[in-house]
Amino acid sequence: MEKKIAVIPGDGIGPEIISEAVAVLDAVAAIYGHKFVYEEVDMGGVAYDKWGDPLPREMLDKCLNSDSVLLGAVGGPKWDTIPSDKRPEKGLLRLRSGMGVYSNNRPARIWPQLAASSPLKPEIVDKGIDFIIVRELIGGIYFGAHRTMEENGEKRAEDIMSYTESEIRRIGRIGFETARKRRKKLCSVEKSNVLDCSRLWKAVMHDLAKEYPDVELTDMLVDNCAMQIVKNPSQFDVIVIENMFGDILSDEASMITGSIGMIPSSSLGDGTRGLYEPIHGSAPRMTGQNRANPIGTILAAAMMLRFSFDMSEEADCIERAISAVLDEGYRTADIAGAGEETTGCREMGALIRSHLAKTEVH
Ligand code: NAD
Repeated sequence: MEKKIAVIPGDGIGPEIISEAVAVLDAVAAIYGHKFVYEEVDMGGVAYDKWGDPLPREMLDKCLNSDSVLLGAVGGPKWDTIPSDKRPEKGLLRLRSGMGVYSNNRPARIWPQLAASSPLKPEIVDKGIDFIIVRELIGGIYFGAHRTMEENGEKRAEDIMSYTESEIRRIGRIGFETARKRRKKLCSVEKSNVLDCSRLWKAVMHDLAKEYPDVELTDMLVDNCAMQIVKNPSQFDVIVIENMFGDILSDEASMITGSIGMIPSSSLGDGTRGLYEPIHGSAPRMTGQNRANPIGTILAAAMMLRFSFDMSEEADCIERAISAVLDEGYRTADIAGAGEETTGCREMGALIRSHLAKTEVH
């Protein structure tokens, strides 16, 4: 199979982790006889420095003309003071919206080898953590009007949150479909005791539930959900949530699994082309030190194979190689215990590829 992949290294540690993920994809291609053709795309601070724009139109077009997009991370203090519409993160918001990827899926799963790095008590971790957050990605307050004005001698700022029924319905459907492929439990999270957007969200979810009698739907207020994620995470299978609440709770969910460096995410719309990235940012202070954990990005590449290219066997073999390296005790700095020896970003990538090389294709 031949696939064209738009690759966005971005800023900070982005180029280091992306180069390990691309090398893993090349190893998979060699084993299974695929051809991956890469198109490098400038986005974020690097694009602003080169082109004065965090996502020039031709860069977005490269992504739209690819079979899928693999992203490192963007942003950093260097660009903190530039106008807000030129900031690196704006490039990412424009990419998501330009690609029409409205559903962000983040697994929160604990690797048994890393259970000790979870900040939760062992008796909570031992019950198991394995859920997915399905977050609406291109609507809500992040995409509403933002204004700062002068009023009665002081500044006032406002940001508008709005959702249409159809925006809620399409993300709700992804939530139900995802739950249907798992343990068939969907928790819809909102703030319906206060917000109209949330009352509409809840009503649409219950309407949709009639089409999915095999999935158990529950409702939870977002503040309670923030508590339940640390108190009893094993209760969750799939959470469906609007954009801003999901942004916050998915970081909380990632932290309880041990390290932000281990978690991938996929963003999908109606077609098979997706945007795949680790959930962390550009970790500016780690840049160029060969200390970043590349596993989140390598797992994002595996997700791309599974969800966009229908290559489940290839994705499984990447995940098995990672598990084998963790079994052998290799740890990057973020997942190492006190006093444990640490492995660099490049070395971790090479170890994963050396396990991949042992794959036998039947
Ligand atoms: P961050 O995720 O970059 O870093 C948070 C912490 O996690 C830091 O201590 C960092 O060292 C550590 N960390 C992150 N990735 C790691 C990895 N792969 N291996 C080991 N440790 C890792 O978040 P931040 O510091 O809040 O943000 C830094 C910059 O990244 C900001 O400019 C922010 O806007 C941007 N950002 C970008 C994205 C994205 O591109 N999708 C997401 C979040 C933040």
